[in-house]
Amino acid sequence: MAETSVKNKRVISDKYRASHEDDTSSLAAALDRGLSGTSDTVSDYEAALRGYFGNRNAIAISSGGAAITVALYAAGVKAGDEVVLTPTSPLCTVYPVMDMGARPVFVDTRADGFSVDLEDLQRVVTPKTRAIIEIPMWGMPTQVDELQQAARKAGIPLILDLAHSHGSTLHGRSLSAYGDLSCYSTHERKPLATGEGGFILTDNDDLAKRCRDYSRFGNLNGRDFGLNFKLGALPAALGTSRLKYLDQQLEARRRNAERFLSRLEHPSVRPFTQIPGAKHNNYFLTLRLNFADNRRFIDHLDEHGVPSDIKRYGCRCLYDFPAVAQYRRPCPNGERLLNSMTTIPVHPSLSSDDIDYMVGLVNAYREG
Ligand SMILES: *Cc1c(COP(=O)(O)O)cnc(C)c1O
Repeated sequence: MAETSVKNKRVISDKYRASHEDDTSSLAAALDRGLSGTSDTVSDYEAALRGYFGNRNAIAISSGGAAITVALYAAGVKAGDEVVLTPTSPLCTVYPVMDMGARPVFVDTRADGFSVDLEDLQRVVTPKTRAIIEIPMWGMPTQVDELQQAARKAGIPLILDLAHSHGSTLHGRSLSAYGDLSCYSTHERKPLATGEGGFILTDNDDLAKRCRDYSRFGNLNGRDFGLNFKLGALPAALGTSRLKYLDQQLEARRRNAERFLSRLEHPSVRPFTQIPGAKHNNYFLTLRLNFADNRRFIDHLDEHGVPSDIKRYGCRCLYDFPAVAQYRRPCPNGERLLNSMTTIPVHPSLSSDDIDYMVGLVNAYREG
């Protein structure tokens, strides 16, 4: 019996490989224009990013992690400073903070989502706090508007890690409208994918200049320090051509998520409540779980070919990983959130049949 089910196992992929007719022609055109990070292909990409997201400045960067490093530098973070962030993000967000010699200080999330809890924020901010980072996980908009106000009042730069959040909006504006510096990744797994890559958006021209100079060795003037974090022309060319299909992709994700939710009947599984004014990009469909053993439910789905980011990355609060344990500051809301949720893939390569299979599996699940 078990053997048969293993043999007939259906596997839903959580990888979406975007592929568009003009991928190849865009790359070919870039080959004729110079391949470095200072080529016109990259400036064109930055112009396209400004157009799509609506920010005054876009700086193409070699990866999402590098974008966080550059943003921290631009915000003025130096060794010994403190950087406040929620512990529910991937290791990718905290390692750049540690690399700068700054101290990550964990602030709890709210009970019902990944926003910074503003009361807890007051407890952790000190005169050494040089930046606050918020990370809207799986593209779900957070209360970035309220955090922006709190950060401004405290005079602390707000960095948004929007690696999951291409196309997510709050009150009709890209989430990047609310950060002093907004960092994106275009790694292969992210909604806008160029293989490796990232970018920073900001409405502040001074911060934009600091980002640009730092990511170009300080323009090699021998006065201003910097490193090389430029994005090459080939991924930039792919980014420009794929950006045109982003809305179409998000619409397919929305339809899949809607189909799943319209068929969801299990009393212990419900969608996250989105905050008022939010539009989720459906990078993943996120579900809240109310089983006696939520991880067993996730394992059950995984055994039946439905992967979860929670399992794939062993999601837990960052201070529970050995490399970050020295910065432990218990955040009960964040722990409860990560222990009571899962993700469901809804990318455009999935068929209605795939969606129905996944929701059927969820509805049929019995604890025992
Ligand atoms: C992917 C990711 C990053 C890192 O981006 P890379 O392009 O892989 O360096 C940072 N933060 C979050 C939230 C991510 O998901």
